[in-house]
Amino acid sequence: MLQALEEKGIGSRRVLDAIGQVPREAFVDEALRAKAYSDAALPIGERQTISQPWIVARMAELLDPDGSGRALEIGTGSGYQAAVLSHLFEQVYSVERFPSLSRRARETIRALGIENVHFKIFDGSYGWSEFAPYGGIVVAASAPEVPPPLVEQLDDGGRLVIPVGGGGSGPSGDGDDQTLVRVIREGPGVRREEHGRCRFVPLVGRFGWTG
Ligand code: SAH
Repeated sequence: MLQALEEKGIGSRRVLDAIGQVPREAFVDEALRAKAYSDAALPIGERQTISQPWIVARMAELLDPDGSGRALEIGTGSGYQAAVLSHLFEQVYSVERFPSLSRRARETIRALGIENVHFKIFDGSYGWSEFAPYGGIVVAASAPEVPPPLVEQLDDGGRLVIPVGGGGSGPSGDGDDQTLVRVIREGPGVRREEHGRCRFVPLVGRFGWTG
């Protein structure tokens, strides 16, 4: 799988090493284990999916991690991406709106012996202000626009990576209808970049889509 990710353009050795340290099969149902190392999104319950390894790697790379600092993840889902981030940041704070998914992710991550991931069940479009500012924020669901609280919780020089647009249709919609946006905080201002098309389930919440 690592070679496939490299061939698809993932250049960060640090990110590839982190992906290599996380057994993806631990995050999917037994029936799907055979598919765990294919580069595809898979169902995890509550009509949600574990993200495709390529996009997990790409988003992690866009955070420019140096192994230190705090990261915030919105959309814990299976916990797979949080586990990858746990090897790229000192502490990872992960927010999920479905209690069942958050609890299962916590169990999986604890069973792997990972101790620097912290979980909260909440509407993550508000962020998690208690531990702000963050060096990196990654949103694993698409929003109509960048939620202002997330920008406020970014550290100076910090990066926020989020899929934007798409009408809230999620994976059942047509095509890659969202744009992967990166916001970099620069003092009082921000820089906004676009990094291609992508497809995520909708961010449902106050600064997301209505559920
Ligand atoms: N990072 C996950 C991908 C999960 S898919 C993984 O590696 O498995 C996106 C997740 O975002 C879903 O679990 C969904 O329930 C969650 N989500 C959607 N809107 C949310 C919100 N407002 N706050 C927190 N989580 C949200």
